[in-house]
Amino acid sequence: MNALAATSRNFRNASRILGLDSKLERSLLIPFREIKVECSIPKDDGSLATYVGFRVQHDNARGPMKGGIRYHPEVDPDEVNALAQLMTWKTAVADIPYGGAKGGIGCNPKDLTISELERLTRVFTQKIHDLIGIHADVPAPDMGTNAQTMAWILDEYSKFHGHSPAVVTGKPIDLGGSLGREAATGRGCVFATEALLAEHGMSINNLTFAIQGFGNVGSWAARLIHERGGKIVAVSDITGAVKNPNGLNIPELLMHKERTGSLKDFHGGDAMDPGEVLVHECDVLIPCALGGVLNRDNAADVKAKFIIEAANHPTDPDADEILSKKGVVILPDIYANSGGVTVSYFEWVQNIQGFMWDEEKVNAELNKYMTRAFNNIKGMCKTHECSLRMGAFTLGVNRVARATLLRGWEA
Ligand code: GLU
Repeated sequence: MNALAATSRNFRNASRILGLDSKLERSLLIPFREIKVECSIPKDDGSLATYVGFRVQHDNARGPMKGGIRYHPEVDPDEVNALAQLMTWKTAVADIPYGGAKGGIGCNPKDLTISELERLTRVFTQKIHDLIGIHADVPAPDMGTNAQTMAWILDEYSKFHGHSPAVVTGKPIDLGGSLGREAATGRGCVFATEALLAEHGMSINNLTFAIQGFGNVGSWAARLIHERGGKIVAVSDITGAVKNPNGLNIPELLMHKERTGSLKDFHGGDAMDPGEVLVHECDVLIPCALGGVLNRDNAADVKAKFIIEAANHPTDPDADEILSKKGVVILPDIYANSGGVTVSYFEWVQNIQGFMWDEEKVNAELNKYMTRAFNNIKGMCKTHECSLRMGAFTLGVNRVARATLLRGWEA
């Protein structure tokens, strides 16, 4: 099932549980605005290259639309649409005053030089600058983009609108970025895991973890779990996978990856098939990469008792059903990975206030937001006798529906 069909199905289930009117349901589902732009740039060798850029602005009932920009070969309109919709529910679950959006360019950033990436980012910004803005739509990094990408967007946007640090989040600290933003998605994911485990009378210490994806989110989650005494028994990324039943030494693995650019040939463990990480023996599985990785082909083989969705929509609806029947507890993406956008909100607030927080304050506030959202989700699970995914969806959808009804639709 494609990402948009899967996300919309979860939304419709939540809407049914909440008893929403079908006309309101339709208005919540259809995106506010979909933008598709041609981005042509000269390559370094002088030849022409054309890419397609997207920004889907899903909903703004609760505030400016918010969400990342992804550079990846698989970026397509349906995927961006699904991710934009997820952002609407995610910001509502986190109870931050935003709507949802997502953008992307269909490209492989690894095939582009730094100057080509800069040109592509600037051309994309030129095409969308009138439709984003501090109180309209605030982009951030996502897969294949980073603080440098945000710096280029900020610079290009500022040529048209004057210096506007709050127009993007996830910026470099020197340009008004927030301390703690780089680690925020991984850290939020760890706070979420702690909240879930505490509910089951457990803690990270001494449990075993398998982590799929060792980019920004996966590597920060791994580092923080390791610091808390969790045993990470398997890790994978696009370069390979490594396992160690006694627990991998994560600081050493991070250094190895930094030095060699790969997980291959790490002496502190044995190489394994990257696909096996998802079905590896462990207590907690954390998918931190692409969507749809848990599906009907592998769900029955998952050994973990808990799945923390650090990626967006890693579990497709078929797998959701199979895993639930097996009694696997799934902490859904719209909550588990909301630490990134939550600290983005802190960054935006700091820019608007013109006052920088220290990192302790950022992390303590993040913990507060993650814990509050978990308790709110549990409240919905109790009221509606539903899974954590439906608890999170009903929480988010209900908040957006309430805001929409309060604002009304008088033309
Ligand atoms: N790209 C991240 C996400 O999917 C962060 C979005 C943001 O900070 O606006 O949640």
